[in-house]
Amino acid sequence: PNTLLANTGTTIFTVMSALAVEHGAVNLGQGFPDADGPADVVRAAADALLDGRNQYPPLTGVPELRAAVAAANRRFWGIEADPATEVVVTSGATEAITACLMAVLDPGDEVVLIEPLYDTYLPVVRMLGAVPKLVRLEPPKWELPRAALAAAFGPRTKALLMNSPQNPCAKVFTAAELAFLADLLQKHDAYAICDEVYEHLTFDGWRHIPLMSLPGMRERCMRIGSAGKTFSLTGWKVGYVTAPARLAGVVAKAHQLLTFTTPPNLQRAVALGLAKPDAYFAELAAELQGKRDRLSAGLARLGFGVLETRGSYFVSADFRPLGFAGDDVAFCRWLTETAKVAAIPVSAFYADAATAPRHYVRFAFCKHNSTLDLALARLEAAL
Ligand code: PMP
Ligand code: GLN
Repeated sequence: PNTLLANTGTTIFTVMSALAVEHGAVNLGQGFPDADGPADVVRAAADALLDGRNQYPPLTGVPELRAAVAAANRRFWGIEADPATEVVVTSGATEAITACLMAVLDPGDEVVLIEPLYDTYLPVVRMLGAVPKLVRLEPPKWELPRAALAAAFGPRTKALLMNSPQNPCAKVFTAAELAFLADLLQKHDAYAICDEVYEHLTFDGWRHIPLMSLPGMRERCMRIGSAGKTFSLTGWKVGYVTAPARLAGVVAKAHQLLTFTTPPNLQRAVALGLAKPDAYFAELAAELQGKRDRLSAGLARLGFGVLETRGSYFVSADFRPLGFAGDDVAFCRWLTETAKVAAIPVSAFYADAATAPRHYVRFAFCKHNSTLDLALARLEAAL
C-alpha cells in the first residue's frame, strides 16, 4: 500500500467518538452539533429528493447554489464573484481543501501552514509531494509569530494554507495579522487557501475577515466555506470554494477527479439556507456564544485554565491547575473512561506531538445546554 496513507493514523475525531460510545461518555470531542439545523433547509433537501433531483448535477455545482454562494460573498464580505466561473461546490470543506491544494501544488513546492492545524492539511500536502513549512501559534494568546512566518516564506513558497476562525484554538485573525500575511503573499507571489468554515461563528463582536477581501488578495485567494458549520448539518458534506476564474477552473478539475459532483438535493437545500435573512446567521452565533459562556464558566469553576474563544465550536482549557499527572492524551483517556466526558487532546493538531504543548484539551460546545450541563456535572463528580 501507499506508504503515506498506510502510516496515516485514524483521525483523532473518530478515535475519540468511538471511545465515547464505548464508555457511555458525553461527547464533547468531535465537533458536531447534537441538534439538527434549520427544519426548512432539511425539508428542502427531502423535497428535492422526491422531486426528481437525483441524477448527476453540473460538475461545479447546481446553478442555484453557485448563485447563492456568490450572493453570500457579496452580502457578508463585500466580495464579488461570478457564479458561473468563480464558485465550485464540493463534497464538504474537506474535499475543497484537497482540491485547492491539488489545484496549485507541484511536487517540491513549499506550503506554509500554521500550527495547531486541522488534521487533513499535512497528509494531503505530503501526498502531493509538496514540502510543508510549519509555523506555530503559541498559547495562551495564539498570536501570529511574524518573524517565523516571514522566515517560512521563500523562493519556493507556492501557497499559504490558513484557517480563521481557527480550529482548535478559536482564534479569529485580526485585520493587522491578515494585512501582514497579504504582504508576504504579494512579496513571494504565492496563493492562499483560506479555510473559513467557521466564518459565521464569531463571538463578542469579533468579526471574521476573509483574507480575500484585502487589497490585492482577490486574485490569490481560494476561500472555502462549509454548509455543515453554517447550518449545523455536518453530515451533509457540502462545501464551496470561491476563487478567481483561472484558479476555480483548476479546482473544478480536481473536483472532477475526486468526487465529480455533490448530491444535488443537498445543494438545492443549502442554496435556500444561504438566502436566509441576516438574523439567522446572527442568531446562530449568539446561541453558540451562550453555549461557549456556559461551558467556559463551568470549566473555570472546576479549576481549568480556560483560554479565550473568539470563534468556532471549541474551547481549549489548560488542565495543569487540576494536578493531573500525565499528558493531554492521557488526560483525554481518563476524562472519557473515568469522568465519562470525551474531549480532544490539542497535541493532535500538531505535526509532531512530541514537541507540541501537552496540557491543553479541546471541548466542543455546539451541544444542547443540557448536554453541556451533564458533562460539567460528570467532571465535577470525577475531579
Ligand atoms: N476545516 C476545519 C477547520 C474544520 O474544523 C472542519 C471540520 N469541521 C473541516 C474543515 C471540514 O469541513 P466539512 O465537514 O465541510 O468537510
Ligand atoms: N471538524 C470536526 C472537529 O474538529 C471533526 C470533523 C471530523 O470528524 N473529521 O471536531
